[in-house]
Amino acid sequence: MKLIDGKVISAQIRKELGERTKNFFERYGKRVGLAVVLIGEDPASKVYVRNKISGCEEVGIRSFAHFLPANTTQEQAVELIRALAEDKNVHGILVQLPLPHHLDAQKILREIPTEKDVDGFSAENVGKLVLKERGTVACTPLGVMELLKRSGVDPKGKRAVVVGRSNIVGKPMAMLLLNADATVTVCHSKTENLKEECRNADILVAAIGKPKFIGADMIKEGAVVIDVGMNRDEQGKLCGDVDFDNVKEKASLITPVPGGVGPMTISMLLSNACALAETAEEL
Ligand code: NDP
Repeated sequence: MKLIDGKVISAQIRKELGERTKNFFERYGKRVGLAVVLIGEDPASKVYVRNKISGCEEVGIRSFAHFLPANTTQEQAVELIRALAEDKNVHGILVQLPLPHHLDAQKILREIPTEKDVDGFSAENVGKLVLKERGTVACTPLGVMELLKRSGVDPKGKRAVVVGRSNIVGKPMAMLLLNADATVTVCHSKTENLKEECRNADILVAAIGKPKFIGADMIKEGAVVIDVGMNRDEQGKLCGDVDFDNVKEKASLITPVPGGVGPMTISMLLSNACALAETAEEL
């Protein structure tokens, strides 16, 4: 078994992004700008947003942080996104999810113009992914593809199984693997014979949200195992969807949690912000 070290790969990517933002500044006389919008007091969201802002600083992206109280109205949220959409210094807009329940998240996200949709969640960007056109792709699945690439794994012709079909991870993950010529199966909570499906996988991606759900009996000998899950175990310790200690004996390559997919998500966000800025200024 060999570990896919997301921290090392992520550090390398951030070094490259540092060069990219420097070149951008030299060329256009302004910095790549990313707006980060947090509404409410969700503690996990606060940590994510803090990490995203410090990621921006690390690679030389200018961040515009907007922290709004939990009682923000739909109109106030929309007004802010519209102002950011107009702002020439802002190349990407990120709204941290989940939003407080009284807000209509989809309606707010729809206010982000596609050319500033740094998370790749818009219908247009999802459509482009399906059509295999250039667009912005959701950060976590994009990070998984980068981990595979930089670990020398080519999905072409391989059997890939994605467990999970969420709009932000499972579905775009499956589409990226399909676009990379893998033979893809998508599993979910209604899948029959999940174990057998997983045992067919040369590449298994777990994006379920259930601690240590994927056991060694679900893994083919020599498979590449990517664990997207971020859960707490009974002791409150961070763990993935994969039972790492047992699965690692069978996998040829495996990502740990923490230190696998997690660090890549923010690096891909920063990379998406750079790409949006380059496209915007080239126009
Ligand atoms: P969702 O809850 O939106 O989706 C979970 C998916 O898993 C659903 O499609 C669901 O099926 C499926 N599922 C649930 N139970 C089972 C089961 N028993 N058997 C098979 N499939 C099942 O989660 P997300 O996609 O948002 O996130 C998945 C995990 O990844 C979470 O742990 C999350 O914290 C983590 N995550 C990590 C990120 C990172 O940066 N590392 C970023 C984003 C997420 P169905 O559709 O039928 O309900």
